[in-house]
Amino acid sequence: MIRINENYLKLNASYLFSEIAKRVSAFQAANPDREIIRLGIGDVTRALPQACVDAFHKAIDEMASDSTFKGYGPEQGYAFLREAIAEHDFKANGADISADEIFVSDGAKCDTANIQELFSEDIIIAIPDPVYPVYLDTNVMAGRTGKFADGRYEGIVYLECTRENGFVPALPEKPVDLIYLCFPNNPTGSTITKDQLAKWVDYAKKNKALILFDAAYEAFITDPALPKSIYEIEGAREVAIEFRSLSKTAGFTGTRCAYTVVPKNCVAYDSEGNAHNLYAMWNRRQTTKFNGVSYPVQKSAAAIYSEPGRTQVKELAAYYLKNAALIRESMMALGYECTGGVDSPYIWIYGKGTGSWDFFNLLLEKAGVVCTPGAGFGRCGEGYIRISAFNSYENVQKAMAKIKEALK
Ligand SMILES: *Cc1c(COP(=O)(O)O)cnc(C)c1O
Repeated sequence: MIRINENYLKLNASYLFSEIAKRVSAFQAANPDREIIRLGIGDVTRALPQACVDAFHKAIDEMASDSTFKGYGPEQGYAFLREAIAEHDFKANGADISADEIFVSDGAKCDTANIQELFSEDIIIAIPDPVYPVYLDTNVMAGRTGKFADGRYEGIVYLECTRENGFVPALPEKPVDLIYLCFPNNPTGSTITKDQLAKWVDYAKKNKALILFDAAYEAFITDPALPKSIYEIEGAREVAIEFRSLSKTAGFTGTRCAYTVVPKNCVAYDSEGNAHNLYAMWNRRQTTKFNGVSYPVQKSAAAIYSEPGRTQVKELAAYYLKNAALIRESMMALGYECTGGVDSPYIWIYGKGTGSWDFFNLLLEKAGVVCTPGAGFGRCGEGYIRISAFNSYENVQKAMAKIKEALK
């Protein structure tokens, strides 16, 4: 008898974005004349930078001729891309990462999920609350949690992110083995300082723990004092793996390109306490289960590091940050407490005592604006909504005018 992985049965049924979609389409069906502006799901809306489009076309032409055609590439990514990444994303910021420590992939979502394969099933996992649901659900699927009860999975150490701690969690009280951190944060838009991040690196060293650092939103950091990479922190190479993505950086959500950094001296331990090299393990995993990102996509990705590409990517981030500033200022002018929207495309808004889904319904019904209820990201998200800056400036202006009209 073929049997299922019963861990899937533990998954909390209501998937946030399908519930939102259901409510939006019900509203649309009941109100066919009402315009809806979507500031909900974290997908980008603007076209690829011209440098990426040009490189993409050129690479496709290379595929069209026998003499320049490319078959399987290196599983870890082409050297031209890995070298550009190491130079511009790390060395330029004082982070000591070499090209061969970079593993190019087709997404940070799958990388953050797949990396778990390297770790024992019975480790203790610390996950922020609220959180990007992928970290939590993939651990449920892998059997690292107990049942879902009272809004939480048994066996997980939740790192609470609240107004009181500025949405940067405190160190756990009991020892943990694997820690997920994401800054600039999705959903709260909060950022972490070098001193705060150094405390986590210290903790990981003292406890022989590992940090999975998701820096998918680093392109939105404009404050030069904030770390763009965890490897800007002394000693992080031994205790941290970093995930990056071109999805939000360069509008690659539909094109697919990301990368994971596994430093060569980053370690985890066997049951006898012997250290093992995670670089070698991840390399083994990728070469066995992954056959690389397509050549045209890698060429397109490398174009963001060209002179014109760098300017275009900066403009792209600046465009969304202008939207974010408008959302933040408009909501604050209405008396709402906001986090994020500076160095981040997300604005996390406290509903003044209104519940997340009630606030969501209010904005949908009265303003025709779709946001994301904070409760969908975890128990600590209750009472908040997330508004995303990923839309046109014109739509954001219109949405804010409608919200003002509805809430005043
Ligand atoms: C969007 C996002 C990613 C990017 O995922 P891809 O699979 O590369 O598109 C990663 N982490 C977080 C927190 C995100 O919001």
